[in-house]
Amino acid sequence: GMPVIPPKPIAVRRRSRRLDVGGVGVGGDAPVSVQSMTTTLTSDVNATLQQIAELTAAGCQIVRVAVPSQDDADALPAIARKSQIPVIADIHFQPKYVFAAIEAGCAAVRVNPGNIKKFDDKVREIAQAARDHGTPIRIGVNAGSLDPRLLAKYGKATPEALVESALWEASLFAEHDFHDIKISVKHNDPVIMVEAYRQLAEACDYPLHLGVTEAGPAFQGTIKSAVAFGALLSQGIGDTIRVSLSAPPVEEIKVGAQILESLGLRERGLEIVSCPSCGRAQVDVYRLAEEVTAGLDGLEAQLRVAVMGCVVNGPGEAREADLGVASGNGKGQIFVKGKVIKTVPEHQIVETLIEEALALVGENQES
Ligand code: SF4
Repeated sequence: GMPVIPPKPIAVRRRSRRLDVGGVGVGGDAPVSVQSMTTTLTSDVNATLQQIAELTAAGCQIVRVAVPSQDDADALPAIARKSQIPVIADIHFQPKYVFAAIEAGCAAVRVNPGNIKKFDDKVREIAQAARDHGTPIRIGVNAGSLDPRLLAKYGKATPEALVESALWEASLFAEHDFHDIKISVKHNDPVIMVEAYRQLAEACDYPLHLGVTEAGPAFQGTIKSAVAFGALLSQGIGDTIRVSLSAPPVEEIKVGAQILESLGLRERGLEIVSCPSCGRAQVDVYRLAEEVTAGLDGLEAQLRVAVMGCVVNGPGEAREADLGVASGNGKGQIFVKGKVIKTVPEHQIVETLIEEALALVGENQES
């Protein structure tokens, strides 16, 4: 077959300091990571660990859990110990939960020091505890919970307001010489979000956690996130991503992974190259593509499979792929590594492609 030539990186990466989030590098030259957040009650240890296991299987690299109550804080040691991936505790107001999360061995804590500043010396104590345990902190500025002072100053959550808020939050830790920080400035509008991250990227060297907040249901949220992350990552901005969808978190991971693969920032896994069909199609391309996709779902392999409706672009794409079919006249020409290995009747195309795919990745030997 043809050698796989690694594509030129899509961008020169912005220089950021590198954090260690429970063994996953964030920032510097660490690969951009994908994260999500559990939707279970954190206090329900079994349900939370079950969901984390599902997320891990889907490719999630870092997981965040909400900690709104003492019961949730009490669950953190077991969750942090048994999770296969680093766990970040998400805390809003209560310093005592921050200390609990650090003590519990959480890989990082998301907390905005601006929210706890009123508790006299707590920011200093948190900086101290985080330093002692090597626990990084994410400052998460969100349009929906912007500091009233900045809301008054800017009138609404503008990019400038989000950035000023984030830099102020970071300065509260910097005062105590604590810099193991990553920052997010989320907004539901990709245009505002992209501008905010661009400004923030210029203004500091902290690693950035990208997110379009409240992005919406799966279809809209996927597109908003893909467009916004694509705009930023193609300029080298962004060190870890979280796609927010009003959908199960495993879906967020699939979308996040696909965004990174599309940008060439992560090794491409299974890729289905299928044509949109047109008046020349001599086969039901949608059904064929769907059945091949379903049949190969979960296959852990770098494999490009072409499903093409006719002989116009069919043979060309099928030849460029590891495996493919070019259909025509009720038959499919099956290509493997650029060569036609056989021609099968239409109803055998799917099973043949799946067989050949499994043979290529060597999984057939086990079954
Ligand atoms: Fe149309 Fe053939 Fe191209 Fe598919 S491969 S879009 S059927 S011309």
